[in-house]
Formats: sequence, C-alpha cells, structure tokens
Amino acid sequence: MLSLEFYRNLPPKQCRECGEEIVEQHESYLYECEKCIGRHEE
Ligand SMILES: [Zn+2]
Repeated sequence: MLSLEFYRNLPPKQCRECGEEIVEQHESYLYECEKCIGRHEE
C-alpha cells in the first residue's frame, strides 16, 4: 500500500513541451526531453 501511494506522488515522466516520455539519466529535475532542452540551448 505504501508503494502505491509513493508512485501516485511522483510526477509523470513526460516532456512538458512535446509530451514525449523522458528517459531518466542523471538527476530527475528535468521536465523536458533532450530534443526540447537542446532547442532551448540553441
Ligand atoms: Zn520534448
């Protein structure tokens, strides 16, 4: 029961820009996929 509640509190791992699923790599503070992040840094 505890694990279920834990997952509920986790934000969805989706890019807030394009909705693409984000693959966790390092820290999970990113809310955009690599494509959108790269676009910002251009
Ligand atoms: Zn994206």
